[in-house]
Amino acid sequence: MSVSTAAADQSVCSPLPVLGRDVTVPLVTGGEVTYAALDYAASAPALQRVWDDVAAYAPYYGSVHRGAGYLSQLSTDLFENSRVTVAEFLDCRPEDQVVFTRSTTDSLNLLAAALPADCQVFVFETEHHASLLPWKDARVTYLNAPRTPAQAVETLERALADRDPHGPALVCVTGASNVTGELWPVRELAAAAHAHGARIVLDAAQLAPHHPLSVRELDVDWVAFSGHKLYAPFGSGVLAGRADWLQDAEPYLAGGGASKKVARRADGGVDVEWHTTAARHEAGSPNVIGVYSIASACKALTEAGFDALVERERHLIATVREGLAEVPEVKVLSLFGDDAPRVGVISFVVEGWNSSHFAAALSAEYGIGVRDGLFCAHPLVRTLLGSDPQQIGECGAPEAEPGEKSLNAIRVSFGAGT
Ligand code: PLP
Repeated sequence: MSVSTAAADQSVCSPLPVLGRDVTVPLVTGGEVTYAALDYAASAPALQRVWDDVAAYAPYYGSVHRGAGYLSQLSTDLFENSRVTVAEFLDCRPEDQVVFTRSTTDSLNLLAAALPADCQVFVFETEHHASLLPWKDARVTYLNAPRTPAQAVETLERALADRDPHGPALVCVTGASNVTGELWPVRELAAAAHAHGARIVLDAAQLAPHHPLSVRELDVDWVAFSGHKLYAPFGSGVLAGRADWLQDAEPYLAGGGASKKVARRADGGVDVEWHTTAARHEAGSPNVIGVYSIASACKALTEAGFDALVERERHLIATVREGLAEVPEVKVLSLFGDDAPRVGVISFVVEGWNSSHFAAALSAEYGIGVRDGLFCAHPLVRTLLGSDPQQIGECGAPEAEPGEKSLNAIRVSFGAGT
């Protein structure tokens, strides 16, 4: 292979036929460059439809819920209707609540803060850090990386069978890996969780942009996702699902919007009555534009039709994998094997190459924007690279010398939504 590691002059990049979308970006050093942005798993480009909807609303936005003026009424209407759109997009049960958050990370931290006392949490070591780490106040069992979807279910069943059957328990699992793109057997894991009296939350950050998602069919208790991976801009996310644990918990943030009544007490303190709706965990002035963007993206994807999107993405995945297979030095990372169903997220290493240099060269010389590192899933990437999963990894850690085992990987990710 002949990719130089020297940073080339970005202004000489030529546009490539793309899997995702060509973007022309002004360079901080002056000039501009057109390149293929293939980092959708980090943040997918917002759909034109979303920008159009936001632009149409922008002159009229106002703070929600408490205003008597028309701007506030309009904004409240859009905000609350967005809840309904998201609930429909996720095929929620009628009694489910949709809480707007800042992101998947925020959603899972909210749920972690709402766990009942003595809750046991079960999570695979292969999770993104957003699903792996928020459970710090609970009794957490970290499950070893399975090598097949069936093994994932068996591993969970075994762990749940050993648990104290009386207390509450939660399983947290991702729907599609942000490293391998592989789909996890969510429905089967949910059935195993429920059979053992546990609940389950689905991290759908990578699943929701690529696949139709039915809370009802998968029978998950909660689902979390981020707007910026679902072709909406940054700043908003969703936690949807059962209301009880959320309503029994202290508000995630204390403040206006979450409180229904506040009064001074005779002893000088303050009494608060908190809302029992989603508002309980949405204190402060919400990100109305972010929420409206998510609803707009949900509508756009539904209208485009997931059957067509999945089919187009299947084709894109096959094209990339076939191309990579032609390069003998490339090793694609996989937990469940080549035939596992997957979304458009593919990580690989190139023998003899430093992954960070390789990614930089893809950008500078070929106009392809990818990501390198451990993708906020350090134990998983270390397992896939055959290095010690207990070793503490650092994003941007020094790379292996040519000929040594790679410590980082390269990730290309795309979607059919745009
Ligand atoms: N879960 C998965 C599977 C992810 O890929 C990511 C982000 O890459 C997250 C959670 C966290 O998403 P956010 O950064 O939007 O909170």
